[in-house]
Amino acid sequence: MTGTEVLRDGAGIVRGACHHDCPDTCAWEVTVIDGRAVRLRGVDDHPFTAGELCPKVNRYLDRVYHPDRILRPLRRVPGSRKGEARFEPITWEEAIAEIAERLTEAIGRHGPETVLPYSFAGTQGLVQMGVMSQRFFDAMGATRVHRHLCGVTAWLGAADVHGVPLGMDPEDLRHSRTILLWGTNTLVTNRHLWPTIEAARAEGAVVVVVDPVRTTTAERADRHVQLRPGSDVALVLGMLHVIDRDGLVDRAFLEDHTSGWDELLADARRVDLDATATITGVDVATIEWLATTFATRRPAAVRVLVGLEHRQHGQEAHRALAMLPAVTGAWRERGGGLCRSTQQYFDSVLVDPVPRRTDGRPPRVFNMAALGEVLTDTDLDPPITALIVHNCNPATITPDQNRVLAGLARDDLFTVVMEQAMTDTARYADLVLPATTQVEHLDLMNAWG
Ligand code: SF4
Repeated sequence: MTGTEVLRDGAGIVRGACHHDCPDTCAWEVTVIDGRAVRLRGVDDHPFTAGELCPKVNRYLDRVYHPDRILRPLRRVPGSRKGEARFEPITWEEAIAEIAERLTEAIGRHGPETVLPYSFAGTQGLVQMGVMSQRFFDAMGATRVHRHLCGVTAWLGAADVHGVPLGMDPEDLRHSRTILLWGTNTLVTNRHLWPTIEAARAEGAVVVVVDPVRTTTAERADRHVQLRPGSDVALVLGMLHVIDRDGLVDRAFLEDHTSGWDELLADARRVDLDATATITGVDVATIEWLATTFATRRPAAVRVLVGLEHRQHGQEAHRALAMLPAVTGAWRERGGGLCRSTQQYFDSVLVDPVPRRTDGRPPRVFNMAALGEVLTDTDLDPPITALIVHNCNPATITPDQNRVLAGLARDDLFTVVMEQAMTDTARYADLVLPATTQVEHLDLMNAWG
């Protein structure tokens, strides 16, 4: 939270931003009276937020002051089972002393890689999510996790085609005349982009939702193409077939800016549209309309978000979609191209200047998706005997849940969880430390899409 405006003695407005894993990153202001936050609302003069948060966050202060908040360190009652969630309050001094003692003991026996810090995007922000815990644990020499549960599929898919995982500015969609909202429920999960889309529509844009689900956004679109789940790549290849067949390929753009396009089009030429219709559940006439509209009603853009990341072969789907605007030369025009995430624009300027490991050795790294495997692998050398979780609830969000729970239940695993309230993961902790909410700490936020 930053930027306090004093209203009167004991009262003020604190400006901040939403911490959720949401591309909008709304700006908010919190009215504080006598140290208590009494009102939270979207900032009127922030152009993207325009005074409106979303239903998920409008009542965030109820969470902040909820009676179930964890406000003191908790220790598992001696003799109780992990997962039972029987805890007793202890002081911060006791908690910190016990953590220091147990980590020192574990490192003394197995080396620093026996410690596994595990975190993700529960509360975003450069401090909470970004640098602080990594600096601390890297200096220790702990094992590191790659935070690769979902977003990486989109980065790699786009980067496979573009070289970098960057795309167009979402606000440039106002210049588009065809907008394909592909696997994204904009009105619900990216709602502050909707006015931009409506502005484009007022100028004649056609808005098409491509989604297996009849979402709220699909209800409001000009057309809903309801493909079968997981058939995105087949649909894109069918579109490329039509674009090539009907002479809508921008060969000059491909020759000037790409390589390998002749092989791609040779593959697309072999596509049998009847087979595409069978695979996707989308009839041939609709595939032809979608392809022709995207190639000819310009500028034309594809908007993707996290929907495709959350399923098998998400990388291939993003890769296929990234080829579409290249083949039609949609990138030539403002409002044309692939619109995904702007995160990497910020990454290039907000690099962490602090060196990581002090001994110069590369850290041992696991993908966070493999937590269950890592915690239950009896041959792992050194084994993970200390797990420090923050900003994350792996008992719920990490794949292979039964193995994760089996790992968390290990008696020889010392687990510390930092949390705002009791979660499925915290129930398995030896120690639970209270964590702050977004209105209780300082941070720096960037929007990502
Ligand atoms: S729309 Fe997104 S950024 Fe805005 S308040 Fe809701 S969750 Fe937060």
